[in-house]
Amino acid sequence: MPYKCAKKRQEYHKKYSLKWNNKNRKKCLKYQKKYKEKNIEKFRIADNLRHRVYRALHKEKILDGLRKSYYKNREKILKQKKEYYKKNKEKIINNSKSWAKRNPEKRRLIVNVQASKRRKRERLNGDKNITIDQWRLLVNNNNGICPYCNKKTEKFVKDHMIPLCKGGGNILSNIMAVCAGCNFKKGRKLISELDWISDKIKRSHNK
Ligand SMILES: [Zn+2]
Repeated sequence: MPYKCAKKRQEYHKKYSLKWNNKNRKKCLKYQKKYKEKNIEKFRIADNLRHRVYRALHKEKILDGLRKSYYKNREKILKQKKEYYKKNKEKIINNSKSWAKRNPEKRRLIVNVQASKRRKRERLNGDKNITIDQWRLLVNNNNGICPYCNKKTEKFVKDHMIPLCKGGGNILSNIMAVCAGCNFKKGRKLISELDWISDKIKRSHNK
């Protein structure tokens, strides 16, 4: 031992081991790797903690970056989302159905918010709801067949030919009784934008 003083001894060891590490870099990395593999759980927890602390400290900066990159690549992201939905349609629908089953409270909340938004739109468009008798007449005229897809159905829903969000009114002349599937499929589009609705229906609407 070259030094009697504890502090000096410590310094000496530190210096020596650093030297050894630099000389045997490959060996060192191998040991480190082995140690990490053995204690993977410990490292995982430490990594997680480090990331969490970083996220908490730089929250605004991270969000800002995400926002910027989203707006920069918005078109691309939306296209990718659309393609992903097309490819995994069934899986997504099943997942959301089972989510709704597991979270009935949250689901109800979402439905309520959507309904209130819808009512607000209806109010803004300044129209009156159609009466129950008028609705029954529409349904009866269909003879149990959805006018959009020509398939038999038992349950009809209101479809706004010009959607409310595009300024269509909640009035008799703008409402069709169709099956729920077609209503969902049509979404916020105009009839003229859809290629799966027959020309006959499109013409009758244009009259
Ligand atoms: Zn239909």
